[in-house]
Amino acid sequence: MENINNSERKAFLVHSDNYSNWIFDPTHPTQGRRFINARDQFAAHMTLAGEPFVEEAPRLATREELLKVHSPSYIEKVVDKHRSGEWAGERAELAELASTFVGGTLVALDALITKGARTAIHFPGAKHHAQWDHSSGFCVFNDFAIASDIATKQYGLKVAILDIDAHHGDGTENLTADNPNVLTFSIHESGIFPGTGKEDHPEDLVFNHPLHTDPYGEDRGSDDSALMTGVNRFITLAQTFKPDLVFIACGADGHLEDPLTNLEYSVAGYVAVAHKVRDTFPKMPILMGGAGGYLPDTRTPEIWAAFARELVLASH
Ligand SMILES: [Zn+2]
Repeated sequence: MENINNSERKAFLVHSDNYSNWIFDPTHPTQGRRFINARDQFAAHMTLAGEPFVEEAPRLATREELLKVHSPSYIEKVVDKHRSGEWAGERAELAELASTFVGGTLVALDALITKGARTAIHFPGAKHHAQWDHSSGFCVFNDFAIASDIATKQYGLKVAILDIDAHHGDGTENLTADNPNVLTFSIHESGIFPGTGKEDHPEDLVFNHPLHTDPYGEDRGSDDSALMTGVNRFITLAQTFKPDLVFIACGADGHLEDPLTNLEYSVAGYVAVAHKVRDTFPKMPILMGGAGGYLPDTRTPEIWAAFARELVLASH
């Protein structure tokens, strides 16, 4: 007999083995096998815990969905001409995957809104640098901004987005700033790409928590406790905002060993964040996207799978 708690904390994972083909070139930091590794580790965690989860396939985003936050000419460039600033020449398979990443996040969103899921996971989700009319920082289409638009305008829900990727979530912030039902909160390393996210804009429900590692600057630290201080600030704001949904951009690139940043988070630090958020909002539908992470065979999938496990299992 299925434990009643299990049905109350239903977990959904959106995944396709085709995600392994997200490779701009073999030496690029972004490697699609991280998504497969994370899926396998998450499934192993669930098996070990005796926790059932539903795995669903993604779908392509429709043009109408992409148009919610992107310009028609940019969509045409990627979808019809198979070009973007992230790769050289025409790459039909990458263009299709970029659209599938949006569709996958929307399948996850649908699981939360209409299928009673408490936690919906899409490791290639949270492409947080993608902008209105161009790609940026390995991100082509902004799935979290599109999902926010649909959740707020189609379903009348409020969305709070916590972005703990090491880089500022500039695209998501820009594309949701004028939506009064979306709050964004980004914790990121100061002084690295994209160089924005230095201050709050409370009138737009935009909040930023840059971590300063410069010893001559305002040093907020760069370790697990600095991360948790930021998460606690988000929680205080969210408790006032009262969202119906929480999206988390769980970039694994803040790990001590990640080659692209100087932050010093540990795996345990990431898990503590998932525990804290789930413990604070035990019944909240939470959508997790993986955002960045550049250790495809080690820390990136380890962090994503452990974070997802904690969101699913904590507080029941
Ligand atoms: Zn990042």
